[in-house]
Amino acid sequence: MISNIEAIPAFSDNYIWILIKGNSAAVVDPGDASAVESFLNKNNLNLEAILITHHHFDHTGGITELTSRWKTKVYGPKGGHIKGIDSELSENSNIKILDTQFHIFETPGHTLDHIAYYSRDIDSLFCGDTLFSGGCGRLFEGTPLQMFDSLNKFSNLPEKTKVYCTHEYTLSNLTFALEVEPDNVDLKKYFEEVSSLRDSNLMSLPSSINLENRINPFLRTSVDQVKENAENYANKQNLQPVEILAAIRDWKDNF
Ligand code: ZN
Ligand code: FE
Repeated sequence: MISNIEAIPAFSDNYIWILIKGNSAAVVDPGDASAVESFLNKNNLNLEAILITHHHFDHTGGITELTSRWKTKVYGPKGGHIKGIDSELSENSNIKILDTQFHIFETPGHTLDHIAYYSRDIDSLFCGDTLFSGGCGRLFEGTPLQMFDSLNKFSNLPEKTKVYCTHEYTLSNLTFALEVEPDNVDLKKYFEEVSSLRDSNLMSLPSSINLENRINPFLRTSVDQVKENAENYANKQNLQPVEILAAIRDWKDNF
């Protein structure tokens, strides 16, 4: 079973998560092959699997280079549109990576092809750009309803599930979240914690489902203050949860 999960920083704010079992490793969304190679070399690891969440270049850019050097399986969304994927996954697919079971969720919203990898064996969720700590991905391709359904799949997972997002967006997400829900004490406390982590250049991740359910406005569309402030922003009354998500997504895009 996977015994260790580490972050390889890439570009300005991406994390490439590397899953380790003995001398074997798997990477999630290797946008940058050279960052992965140097981690593998330094830690004497062999790359055995690549997991892809969606087609954006900052998540897929390293596939070709890595597969030219390593005999590695490449898992990713179905559709044939991502070069190098040899095992296409869809809703409820189950795969075994480094002797660890993973369940696949289709999570459209940020993109239409987006999938997420959940493992009950190691209580971990690799959610790409669907869920961020304190926020969610921009709706480049999908609808608010699709994102709402995708986020619901996550919020119903066991509370102890660790959440491995692909970007260090937490602090800016929390700054916005405090506008949406200024009276949330858990959110205020988390903002202070993340501020001091980031002051020391430390990462804010992984998060957890328990924490996200308490602080992430995109998972809290049924909370009164989130609803009221979304309605104020949209200048409309009686918004339903999906409309509240749409309103705060639009608000965040213009924040
Ligand atoms: Zn993306
Ligand atoms: Fe991304």
